[in-house]
Amino acid sequence: MGLERLKRTAKAPYPARSPVERVMTEQATAETRGFQTEARKLLKLMINSLYSNREIFLRELISNASDAIDRLRFESLKDDSLTADDPEFKIAIEFDPDAGTVSVVDNGIGMGRDEAVENLGTIAKSGTEEFFDALTGDEQKDSALIGQFGVGFYSSFIVAGEVEVLTRRAGEDIGTRWTSTGEDEFTVEDAADLPRGTRVTLTLKPDAKEFAESFRLRSVVRKYSDHVGVPVLMAKESGGQDEDDDDDDDTELEAVNSAKALWTRPRNDIDDDEYKEFYKHVSHDFDDPAAWSHNKVEGKLDYTSLLYIPKRAPFDLWNREMPRGLKLYVQRVFIMDEADEFLPLYLRFVRGVVDSSDLPLNVSREILQQDDRTRTIRNALTKRVLDMLAKMDAEEYGEVWDEFGLVLKEGLGEDFANKDELLGLLRFASTHDSDPTQRTSLKAYISRMNGTSEQADPEQEAEADEESTDDESDRDTVDDESGGKRQDKIYYLIADSDAAARSSPHLEAFRARGIEVLLLSDRIDEWWMSFVEEFDGLKFQDVARGELDLDDEADESKEDEKKSDDEPLLKRIGEVLGDKVESVRESKRLTDSPACLVLGEHDMGIQMRRIMEATGQAAPDSKPHFEVNLAHPLVERLNDEADEDRFGDVVSILFDQASLAEGNAVAEPGAYVQRVNKLLVELLG
Ligand code: ADP
Repeated sequence: MGLERLKRTAKAPYPARSPVERVMTEQATAETRGFQTEARKLLKLMINSLYSNREIFLRELISNASDAIDRLRFESLKDDSLTADDPEFKIAIEFDPDAGTVSVVDNGIGMGRDEAVENLGTIAKSGTEEFFDALTGDEQKDSALIGQFGVGFYSSFIVAGEVEVLTRRAGEDIGTRWTSTGEDEFTVEDAADLPRGTRVTLTLKPDAKEFAESFRLRSVVRKYSDHVGVPVLMAKESGGQDEDDDDDDDTELEAVNSAKALWTRPRNDIDDDEYKEFYKHVSHDFDDPAAWSHNKVEGKLDYTSLLYIPKRAPFDLWNREMPRGLKLYVQRVFIMDEADEFLPLYLRFVRGVVDSSDLPLNVSREILQQDDRTRTIRNALTKRVLDMLAKMDAEEYGEVWDEFGLVLKEGLGEDFANKDELLGLLRFASTHDSDPTQRTSLKAYISRMNGTSEQADPEQEAEADEESTDDESDRDTVDDESGGKRQDKIYYLIADSDAAARSSPHLEAFRARGIEVLLLSDRIDEWWMSFVEEFDGLKFQDVARGELDLDDEADESKEDEKKSDDEPLLKRIGEVLGDKVESVRESKRLTDSPACLVLGEHDMGIQMRRIMEATGQAAPDSKPHFEVNLAHPLVERLNDEADEDRFGDVVSILFDQASLAEGNAVAEPGAYVQRVNKLLVELLG
């Protein structure tokens, strides 16, 4: 069935203009424009990167057509004259093997001339510039990034040497013709007598002529676009029909998709591939999703949701203006994109659809923000997402964590109702594993506490990760092998980097006793920790804060400390350091290092200080405690040092070194270097 013939048939819904009309109306208005620089780069990259998967151009064009229909259906709620000329929404695919053309035609909202220039000549995504700045120039590597960016209309140029878009916006008279060969420029001109909606015609490249064949097109439509909620029509196959047959009336169209919005179908009717394709439609992502959850809720509120977790973070995840939120439908009518009222900010990476039967069709963002129903659905969807994440296979969840863990951590400061669920989702580097890419959950950490599974083999480990070991009695009966007191806290350390954490002196006592410490090095770790007190009945304890006593006889130690405060050596050190420190005391945390700095229980840590400084705020004044390892040979030797000058130098050096070990800068680097050099000269001389 040829394109020309389809155009001419009475039943074909989209008559095209005659060539004469075109020439008459267009010459005066034609204009050639250059593509935006980014658009140009995107076109080039795309053609390279998607060549092996080029059939997806059809998915993208059908997806755009279906969006355009959704938008018109929404606008016609207010003004039904917009659709009066052609009330039945549909998409058609026409093709002409002889001419090597294929067209995707919709009777959706269409575009005005300015919109066509804007939408098809530029990439209107915020963060585009940054995205392109981040490209390496290595085609192979850059190509992999394209999927993350979303491909859209430009994917036409993977298969087409020339693309023509004929479009007329609903409610307007004059249409627009847009053409381009996908190189540097495109032309636009006015066009009369266009039907409402958009016709995109591709003149296929010689090696892509297969996309002008009925069989190939049908299989691509079924594969990628079956879920589209409007019929995708193609000429009925008529087995060996004569191409030259001019009897147009028998040209019948038939739907090649099931034309039922995917989320309205029962779950067990839908296979994984359909879910995946639908994801690509809603997300404009090129990859499969990592997980999804499809639910129909009936009761006080009736709604259906289909939520997806992407595999990769979008390039603009950290951009405040990134598009986020779900597609909102009311009684199957598309209402808006990026309805961000239905999920909290920290779940902004979730994609999908929510379809409510209770909200009014004329619902606006303002109404949504104040509506109790929105809040109820939002709470339920939030739980749904957290539950979906918790149920993921450990390895796949690990990948999701690597992409979105930092955003999930934001939730601990935003969503107190789901704190426990969020804590359960956290993954940490820990002293249990020297490989920083290995992560542990809090449940797995707890299961290893008090030597219960110290030498656990990796398989048991994985199980512990998945299953909760909430068995309190288990913990209560096991004795600590080291003879110290039982561990009843979750220990953690915050540092600038994983490497800095692992070499911190604060870990020494824990290492010596085989107690695992979680190692936190994300820039927001101190911030979210300030909202969290305990998990599963166990308190969190920063190992770099407060007094620490890992050994038994906890009570008697109070007296010990008092005694040690009086140690003449500590006093002498205190005199050197003066008001640089809150106190000088004996350390119970050190085995190898001579000294370290310890924060007060409520003092602001280094990360928070940096955040405050970066935002131009003054961090509150607080001084560290200087803890000294009295058993360290250097400290023992210091005790005998009679030369006050040298004593002062060594103490100052120890203090500066302790600062360095915390990831701080030394207050007076020049003085530090001089002191060290002085000692070195004495040593060598
Ligand atoms: P995306 O669909 O991701 O926004 P595209 O490059 O595919 O990116 O399309 C850019 C824009 O062009 C769309 O957002 C839409 O506004 C417009 N557009 C594309 N195809 C159509 C169409 N068939 N009907 C109306 N507008 C369209």
